[in-house]
Amino acid sequence: MNVCRTVEEVRKVVRTHRDQGKRIAFVPTMGALHDGHLSLVRAALNHDTTVVMSVFVNPLQFGPGEDLDAYPRDEQRDLRLAEDAAVDVMFLPRVEEVYPPGRCTTVTVSGSLTSTLEGSSRPGHFEGVTTVVAALFGIVTPDEAYFGEKDAQQLAVVRRMVRDLSMDVEIRACPVVRESDGLAMSSRNAYLTPVQREHARALFASLVQAEQVAAAGGSSGEAAAAAWVMLLQSPGIEAEYAAAVDPDTFEPASEGSYRLCVAARVGTTRLIDNVLLGRRTE
Ligand code: AMP
Repeated sequence: MNVCRTVEEVRKVVRTHRDQGKRIAFVPTMGALHDGHLSLVRAALNHDTTVVMSVFVNPLQFGPGEDLDAYPRDEQRDLRLAEDAAVDVMFLPRVEEVYPPGRCTTVTVSGSLTSTLEGSSRPGHFEGVTTVVAALFGIVTPDEAYFGEKDAQQLAVVRRMVRDLSMDVEIRACPVVRESDGLAMSSRNAYLTPVQREHARALFASLVQAEQVAAAGGSSGEAAAAAWVMLLQSPGIEAEYAAAVDPDTFEPASEGSYRLCVAARVGTTRLIDNVLLGRRTE
């Protein structure tokens, strides 16, 4: 595995692979790798590509008072896991590599897609995400990039940016990877005490509840209400939202398939999860 820390290094390695006829697949992460991240690598490898992974804790996507300083970092462990997963190139840039001193460019996707749910809970978050993803795309020049449905709104925002700016990269989505009890894998789960870890199961339980309501013929509003009530009634959880939205626009769900999204705090740890419901086929 090639380990690169500068823009120059990663560009050189990418050029070599591209010259050998390889497509470049990119998996951007903030590290503290878990199987959710590695599922993206496995999906990328399925396509017989050169896989470039980045580990960069992006300061721009954290708001004041959020967990930027506390965010788990373990470079040696990340390198080991990436190598075992057959990542070809690991890009570990310092902040100055991604954001040149004096940077005065940000990338903003405006409208309801970025102002609702995570956008309203975390002002400036998506601007930080689109700015870093655009910068990393500019550095790595991938042919395809892999994102998890765990962060479904982020995925929709990135897709919109790529479409609106005609970026020449194919965005591929991978399903949520869960622990055996249903909790969505997340680097932030490491913050949870054993008791909080038990309480955190309520997020997935609320989605299962919503799924049952939908399967019994309930509307998207009824499914969201069922998830919300379950979150409110669960001990140790501070419910933030439960909403049924269009999977692409994140506007309130109408007919057809919709994404049921939930967010809650467990102690000081903020967790999100979602499931796709109301499919017409299958
Ligand atoms: P992060 O390191 O949290 O920024 O995540 C990097 C990428 O991994 C994003 O595209 C996430 O959506 C994806 N990801 C994180 N957790 C999961 C999970 N449990 N299942 C699938 N993808 C995930």
